[in-house]
Amino acid sequence: METHQTIKKNIAILGAGFAGVKCALDLEKLAKKDKDLSSQFNIFLIDKKNYHLYTPALYEVATTAKADASGPVLKRIVTTPIEEIIKNRNIKFLQAEVENLNFEKRSISFKDGEALDFEYLVLALGAEPAFFGIAGLKENSLTPKSLEDGIKIRNRVRERFLEKKESDSILKVIVGGSGPNGVEFASELVGYIKELNKIHNKKIKAEIKLIDGAPHILPGFEHNVVKKASKRLEKLGVKTLGGFVISKVDEKNAYLKQLPPSNAPQENFTPEEKTENYDVLIWSGGVQASNILDSVNVQKEKRGRAEVNHFLKCTSPDKHLDISEKIFAVGDNSCFYDPLSQKPVPGTAKIAIEQAEIAAINIYNAIKLKPKVLYTVRPLPFSIPIGGKYAITKWGPFLFAGFFGWVLKQLVELYYLYSITDRASVVFGWWRGIKIFSKND
Ligand SMILES: Cc1cc2nc3c(=O)[nH]c(=O)nc-3n(C[C@H](O)[C@H](O)[C@H](O)COP(=O)(O)OP(=O)(O)OC[C@H]3O[C@@H](n4cnc5c(N)ncnc54)[C@H](O)[C@@H]3O)c2cc1C
Repeated sequence: METHQTIKKNIAILGAGFAGVKCALDLEKLAKKDKDLSSQFNIFLIDKKNYHLYTPALYEVATTAKADASGPVLKRIVTTPIEEIIKNRNIKFLQAEVENLNFEKRSISFKDGEALDFEYLVLALGAEPAFFGIAGLKENSLTPKSLEDGIKIRNRVRERFLEKKESDSILKVIVGGSGPNGVEFASELVGYIKELNKIHNKKIKAEIKLIDGAPHILPGFEHNVVKKASKRLEKLGVKTLGGFVISKVDEKNAYLKQLPPSNAPQENFTPEEKTENYDVLIWSGGVQASNILDSVNVQKEKRGRAEVNHFLKCTSPDKHLDISEKIFAVGDNSCFYDPLSQKPVPGTAKIAIEQAEIAAINIYNAIKLKPKVLYTVRPLPFSIPIGGKYAITKWGPFLFAGFFGWVLKQLVELYYLYSITDRASVVFGWWRGIKIFSKND
């Protein structure tokens, strides 16, 4: 790896997900207009992968039956090469895995290669699955996080399907966690298994169960959304089991334990226990911040995310370490408490993009000694696809469920993709994705 010894100072952006890419592009635009900035600073975008992954389409990767959707084809649809994103832009891309951060020395070390010094740092390393110490869960489950994970789920379901010899046997899939990810995976698997039956001329039945400790699916979502989504899942044949947590997992079984209802007296409660056997176990029950943050002395919350203030700057419990002006955290790496609810804002692509815009302006303003701008939480539109060409989409005050909700989801996807990559090829990739992924529907 080349050495990065320069007289210019470095602004290092760690992670080329939604937050990192947006932050790098916005900073570069500001630097283009300000020759002082571009002559004094390099903008480094750093990621272990050489592509940006479009996570909202990952469930489609995991559930596409068509033979023409090979690994490389799927990769082309849901990823954009970083090289393409930064083409003709004054951003240096470093493909390297961050291993350690040293705030005192302002230095980043990597798994391979030379360390890189920084003057400003943006933490945008995203999140990782959280297993909450549940015995056997990590070893036996598949987690939908990366492109490889999506392809692994697709292959595992297909393998277990093909292992079923009797035409009326049952393929059992458990999805742990009934947030939007769990709901979209469980519902889309219905179409995938149907398609596998057609292709292989079999009649394997699918038993897909969504399990959550919360009493109902989509915890935290408004009642109307939960009701519509539950009805849709029921129609698709997906079973839901609320109020149970997975307490242990082995190669074939998930052991469940009932949680006491929140309004019931806890002392008289005897939890029911169940054993559910499975062919495939998908875990989407929670995430935590990238473990790189474990080693650094910034204020963190219980899931390891860096707590940030209104300017999206990290704070340090160590009063002697002056990091307040130079280190920002955005997207899933950060924890910003919504002043209205006092709860952390959720990890979504939209929030990652909005926070990245503010971090870029605040780095620029810090360099120019201008006042910083505040990050404010804007109302959150969302779209939850629930099998085939059906989605529940909230747009402003309106809620659309069904085909129109699905159309809006596609438009929202195009908007996200274009807002960070801003290249015509993105539109072709988006269209190719719709054509391939809707073949299951
Ligand atoms: C299956 C799935 C579906 C989703 N669907 C939606 C949706 O429909 N709508 C929505 O708004 N949100 C959705 N999300 C959430 C959304 O993807 C995240 O909130 C968003 O990606 C956060 O952006 P980020 O930039 O903080 O992190 P990420 O996009 O996760 O980017 C982090 C980057 O850091 C890199 N990285 C991590 N560790 C290292 C390291 N040690 N060294 C170097 N690089 C590293 C990773 O390779 C990655 O590129 C979904 C998430 C998943 C997993």
